[in-house]
Amino acid sequence: MNAEDRIARLCGAVNEDRLWKRHMDLARFGALESGGVNRQTLSRADIAARKLLIDWARQRGYAVETDAIANLYIRRRGRDNEALPVATGSHIDSQPLGGKFDGIYGVLAGCEVLESLDDAGIETDHPITVVAWTNEEGSRFAPGAMGSMVYAGLRAVDALRSVTDAEGTTLEAALDATLAAMQTDRRLATRPPFKAYIETHIEQGPVLEARGIEIGAVTGIQGTRWFEVEVNGRSAHAGTTPMSRRADAMSAAVDIIADLRRMAADPEDRLRFTIGRVNVVPNTPNTIPEQVRFTIDMRHPEQRVLEDRTRDIVARCTGTSGGCTVSVRELLTQKPCDFPESIVSRVESAAKALPVSCMRMPSGAFHDALFVASTCPTGMIFVPCRDGISHNPTEHAEPAHLAAGARVLAATLVGLAAADAK
Ligand SMILES: [Zn+2]
Repeated sequence: MNAEDRIARLCGAVNEDRLWKRHMDLARFGALESGGVNRQTLSRADIAARKLLIDWARQRGYAVETDAIANLYIRRRGRDNEALPVATGSHIDSQPLGGKFDGIYGVLAGCEVLESLDDAGIETDHPITVVAWTNEEGSRFAPGAMGSMVYAGLRAVDALRSVTDAEGTTLEAALDATLAAMQTDRRLATRPPFKAYIETHIEQGPVLEARGIEIGAVTGIQGTRWFEVEVNGRSAHAGTTPMSRRADAMSAAVDIIADLRRMAADPEDRLRFTIGRVNVVPNTPNTIPEQVRFTIDMRHPEQRVLEDRTRDIVARCTGTSGGCTVSVRELLTQKPCDFPESIVSRVESAAKALPVSCMRMPSGAFHDALFVASTCPTGMIFVPCRDGISHNPTEHAEPAHLAAGARVLAATLVGLAAADAK
């Protein structure tokens, strides 16, 4: 059987109904009456979901492993078991008001590929591993993407153990409970290196649906910068202080924000600029505010643009304005990540061969792939979701789109798992 025939047979074995049913099976863990899920990391619902995945893996005879941060690794043997596995996956935790597809789709699409390989009787040279990364969402324990950051060596588990959730439970206690419940074959002391990593995910944006395209070949993940701006004036009585004698931190902040929004206007509509939190002191109706602090979340796929706009922000938010002093500090910098062209074009040609419609696009959101990308050649596959809505119980993806994404994933993984593939 030549390579094209193998891939055609494998894609024929991808089972849309099975993949859909598995999403519905897992949506029971943490199910909300609204139809969404609340399956926060290392919770009872997360543990139950992990156990079901492990049951499925055991029925197929796959190896099941974990590590100190409770990432779950499900591995199907290759012809050469010493060769580096080709990996896929995503996360199974959700936001408190999450949907049935964010994250879990990437894990279930990976499982569907493994089972389709079995059903089609195909052996790969390299093993293939499906990973469920711990705590991508960060809603219970901050920060998010802990599992993939620890994997990539960007964080140490020991430095995270004392992080607590809103109830005061430590990450350490939650990890212990999860690791004890999972009953894996092995706990890995060091990270298992991968030959490559491909993550499938719902787009969480409106572009694919609006254009009627089934697959996004993700070119990279846009960079992010967070700032906090602090405006300090003088509090005074709202009734007795003439307008001409005020140092009103809110008035100054409103002017600054208006200027920043003009600066952020992008005719190409690629820059994302959000002022999402404002704190006012003393925050009462009849006192002139003495202090306003607000955050800026700015994202763009190009580092040069982020640097230019950062200079604008610093210039506008330093010094004095409307009788108040203004300062800005950077809270977070995440550079844009470009996926290797060899991976992006593999995804594109896998889609073309099926055929399903495909376009190149950057990812607007963070994903585990952003961190794994520092360890091996990495890429992502997007499928449409209804109205671009995610992090919401109404999140929905079409069964046919989920299956199309799994087929593109299958073809991409099998290509990468060939001994001679670069
Ligand atoms: Zn996600």
